[in-house]
Amino acid sequence: MTSTKRLRSTLEWLECSRCHGVANIGEPQTVCADCGGVLLARYRLDEAARTMTRDALRERPPSQWRYSEVLPGSDGPISLGEGWTPLHRARFLGQSLGLQNLWVKDESLNPTGSFKARGMSAAVTMALRSGARRIALPSAGNAGGAAAAYGALAGLAVDVFFPVETPEPFRLEATAYGAEVHLVNGDISACGARCREQGQQESWFDLSTLKEPYRLEGKKTMGYELAEQFDWELPDVVLYPTGGGTGLIGMWKAFEELKQLRLLRSDHRPRMIVVQAAGCAPMVKAHEEGAEEAEPWPEPRTYANGLCVPSTIGDRLILQVLKESNGTALAVSDPEMAAGQLELARGEGIFAAPEGGALVAALRRMIEQGQVGADERVVLFNTGTGLKYPKIPDLRLL
Ligand SMILES: *Cc1c(COP(=O)(O)O)cnc(C)c1O
Repeated sequence: MTSTKRLRSTLEWLECSRCHGVANIGEPQTVCADCGGVLLARYRLDEAARTMTRDALRERPPSQWRYSEVLPGSDGPISLGEGWTPLHRARFLGQSLGLQNLWVKDESLNPTGSFKARGMSAAVTMALRSGARRIALPSAGNAGGAAAAYGALAGLAVDVFFPVETPEPFRLEATAYGAEVHLVNGDISACGARCREQGQQESWFDLSTLKEPYRLEGKKTMGYELAEQFDWELPDVVLYPTGGGTGLIGMWKAFEELKQLRLLRSDHRPRMIVVQAAGCAPMVKAHEEGAEEAEPWPEPRTYANGLCVPSTIGDRLILQVLKESNGTALAVSDPEMAAGQLELARGEGIFAAPEGGALVAALRRMIEQGQVGADERVVLFNTGTGLKYPKIPDLRLL
């Protein structure tokens, strides 16, 4: 499986998603210095296309680093084997929903049990190169564990700010990897504020999602894998549980890059479906109102930690993806998510995170409303394992 050729990156510069200003990859980067917009990594795609061919990819290692040309720091990544997760045909669930072509991309098989590993592998690689010795971030759960694991591997000190209500397994995991765990009264936004405040005294690098450009790059590989696993033809509908939105924005970026790399068999792109919790649905509200930005959700409440994100600096980009992909956004209740978790577990043998369970409920509603056709190819992203959530809210379901 190992390639004899050295894996290399064609990363060239960073572009602000808002003002289109340019930033240098040679220095540690956060958001755009001029306007505060999210920075996007840009590559020499013509050069990448010469070596990243369909044939060449077949021989590459079974991790996200198989896409080395379009990732940062590919000549020596901090890697635990993240990515290249299975794409399962969900026959039983498909049958019960009346779909012939339903698939689950199971991100729970990543190191640390969630797709957060993808982003952290790329971000920690680049933080280390930029000279960081210490990294810090707010986390609703999985990001903290992933940062702690990759930080440990890289020999970096890690500080994680969790909401005080974060379930024990997430905190235990981060502590086991040697991270300093700070518990904050409040939600993830309060954690972000604390992390920034303390960061002004400490010389640490802030790894908050979308506040540095490389977590997005790791997460975009979910889009590359979808394409490759479907033999370079993208599916019709992708449902994604959306918190900060990095995964969704990343996949959309990947689809554009894939087009420029001439790897796709057609220009067909999926409708992207944002799924949020009824108790924290800022993107659903903004989408329904036709807004260009989202307002912070006042009192976020859900047991799906990854969806307990009241505001994100990716809001404009998420809404743009919904528009460009002809997608939509739906909110589902906690009991609906729990029922979805059990359907995935009992039907497909996948103990999904509540975030993954939410997609089943959302898909059922879309089918009832005639928004998904019976023969369309539909993909659910199970973003993490159910094992870190000690409770399922509606115990009558068990
Ligand atoms: C972080 C997280 C999400 C949300 O991901 P974003 O890409 O930030 O929107 C969804 N599910 C799980 C399990 C997560 O850990």
